[in-house]
Amino acid sequence: MGRPDYQSFGRANPGARQVVEIGEATELLTSGAAHASSLLAYGNGRSYGDSCQNSAGAVIDLRPCNRILSFNAETGLIDAEAGTLLADIIAYIAPHGFFPAVVPGTQLVTLGGAIANDVHGKNHHRRGSFGCHVERLVLLRSDGRYVCSPSENSRLFWATIGGMGLTGVILSAAIRLMRVPSLDIAETVKPFGCLGEYFELAEAADADNEYAVAWIDQLASGKHVGRGLLLVGNHAPLGARKASSGAARLSVPFQPPLTLLNRPFLKLFNAAYGWRRGRLAESRSSHQKFFFPLDGVAHWNRLYGPNGLYQHQSVVPEAAARETIPALLAAAQRAGQGSFLTVLKRFGAQRSPALLSFARPGYTLTLDFPNHGRRTLELLAELDRITVGAGGAVNPYKDARMSAETFAASFPDWQRLEAMRDPAFMSDFWARTAGRLGGRDGNTAQAAE
Ligand SMILES: Cc1cc2nc3c(=O)[nH]c(=O)nc-3n(C[C@H](O)[C@H](O)[C@H](O)COP(=O)(O)OP(=O)(O)OC[C@H]3O[C@@H](n4cnc5c(N)ncnc54)[C@H](O)[C@@H]3O)c2cc1C
Repeated sequence: MGRPDYQSFGRANPGARQVVEIGEATELLTSGAAHASSLLAYGNGRSYGDSCQNSAGAVIDLRPCNRILSFNAETGLIDAEAGTLLADIIAYIAPHGFFPAVVPGTQLVTLGGAIANDVHGKNHHRRGSFGCHVERLVLLRSDGRYVCSPSENSRLFWATIGGMGLTGVILSAAIRLMRVPSLDIAETVKPFGCLGEYFELAEAADADNEYAVAWIDQLASGKHVGRGLLLVGNHAPLGARKASSGAARLSVPFQPPLTLLNRPFLKLFNAAYGWRRGRLAESRSSHQKFFFPLDGVAHWNRLYGPNGLYQHQSVVPEAAARETIPALLAAAQRAGQGSFLTVLKRFGAQRSPALLSFARPGYTLTLDFPNHGRRTLELLAELDRITVGAGGAVNPYKDARMSAETFAASFPDWQRLEAMRDPAFMSDFWARTAGRLGGRDGNTAQAAE
């Protein structure tokens, strides 16, 4: 039985069975007593699937390592322990006129987790991924402790960014922040009637705005198929410079016995949310509402019922997107499984220098499905086939079930990460994919140059 407080966000897998504190993990690693594949860092479990789980060994709880070590209000460089939440970093830096250059859709992720997954935000077209803003990190491995940067232990640095915890445990990291006039966002919501209209708007929206993302109404039928809202925004010249803590105001206090996210519920939600909510005039949004709307309800993933949810995030090259995105949405509709939250975003041209990074030029579609067992797995496999067939990739840190072949097609360079993996570290995701591709034996490389 896994521990519920060390689960993944999708809750379709059991939580970690064994948990060790950082002190114990350090002792095991520095004394040479850490067994092969016995450890994996655990940030705040906001990955959806099994990339933050290691059922063959233990996870290392990083959450108590949450001190801010230094901050330079002139240069915007902040150094913090790896378990520090982005919410706490934002609260600390906001009064000085800074914001992280990249934030994902929740601020309840740790600094280490954001680096290890090289996460992306609504401004990928301007700033690339999180890893593009890391200056330095300190990594503990079974063969030593390394200070890594683009100029020092650089191979290890770029393998650790996006390395999904497999190169060792990040103890602390320094990131370069972005100067902003305020936390608030001057937001415009543009409704679009179909995907064709979205594709017409997307590139110009990116050119004009720091942030851009679209929500698709997956329940729309007939002439409304593909309708949605394009949300764009920039930091407002005047506004809040103080962030409250990331604490949720509402909560789903217990686990309902079945999924509440069925079709009638989604219809009600959509009606309440209002696909006519488009506001062509600019309005002011708090940063929490604009970037992290779901953080307002604690444990909202419980609404998916006891079997949890699967998220499917794909990215396809720009040239294939106009055919592939509709094909992915149509496959979900044919299967009779509407996605509760459907997000579409254009990634920019900036490639991450990380060895393995999901974000790459093209369009990315994110779909959330309640776990209905085999029929959901079949749909997900179909979505994988469409994605890979279009030359795209499926996101590993949102995944709990992709095949080894889908992973290899999405990340043809996976063996380069395997070569940099610390033998003491393993995740369920890596064992399930790279392990099946023959990865476990090939691990002989020395970490440092
Ligand atoms: C509501 C919601 C919205 C999201 N939106 C986005 C989005 O817009 N963009 C996006 O890219 N992602 C998004 N995500 C996914 C999330 O940002 C990533 O999965 C993130 O990496 C989770 O961080 P965590 O601290 O919870 O780490 P965990 O999920 O606990 O771990 C993530 C990975 O990092 C490794 N790791 C954690 N800490 C360390 C460490 N100290 N040293 C080495 N390895 C470590 C783990 O081993 C694991 O492989 C979203 C998730 C949710 C729940």
